[in-house]
Amino acid sequence: MEKIIVAIDGFSSCGKSTIAKALARYAGYTYVDTGAMYRTIALYMLRHNIVADADIIAALPAVQVGFTLVDGAQHATLNGEDVERFIRTLEVGNRASQISQIKEVRAFLVAQQQAMGKAKGIVMDGRDIGTVVFPKAELKLFLTASPEVRAQRRFDELVAKGEKPDFQAVLADVNDRDYRDTHRAESPLKQAEDAIVVDNSHLTPDEQMKVVIDLFDKIINHQL
Ligand code: C5P
Repeated sequence: MEKIIVAIDGFSSCGKSTIAKALARYAGYTYVDTGAMYRTIALYMLRHNIVADADIIAALPAVQVGFTLVDGAQHATLNGEDVERFIRTLEVGNRASQISQIKEVRAFLVAQQQAMGKAKGIVMDGRDIGTVVFPKAELKLFLTASPEVRAQRRFDELVAKGEKPDFQAVLADVNDRDYRDTHRAESPLKQAEDAIVVDNSHLTPDEQMKVVIDLFDKIINHQL
């Protein structure tokens, strides 16, 4: 069967990776979490105390971002080391949001992401997938949910990891990241004109999955 590219964009913590992983499993496609790629570069810069933009750009050739499968789950790798457990913290997320504003960092990762999609059969999630990485993707989804709903989800995730977050701080962080993601000069988060918007504030994961699978099946069967 013909393979397509599925581009999933949206704000942080709106469930992009959950839906992208589930759709990839359904379709038998490769899933690529581009946020993890920005986070992995951020981790490298944090570990090496590299702060200035020019130094970050100069260090990029030393950073090899990859993925490996561990018990069926995709883990990010940094120069071959499994760094999955280090990249999901608030600190790394914030640093990722900052370094993702640098044009050269984006170009470095976009080229790798485009290479990953050459053979199609891929579900990629991020902020600029439908607009910059794969502007010709056959299916583009733009996921949204209210900041409060997203902050609550992030809060619950952090609690589940044993952290003791403050809800107002988590909400402020969600709002800050939204602002940075939508206002940066380089590839700001915006809905592609031909993207289908899915607001999941009031959808259960199963309901959302059904909406997305229906769309995927229609595209594959040329009914949309
Ligand atoms: O999606 P996630 O929260 O893991 O992404 C981490 C950060 O990386 C985001 O805050 C966003 O600024 C940046 N990012 C990006 N472009 C992408 C994916 C993520 O700028 N395609």
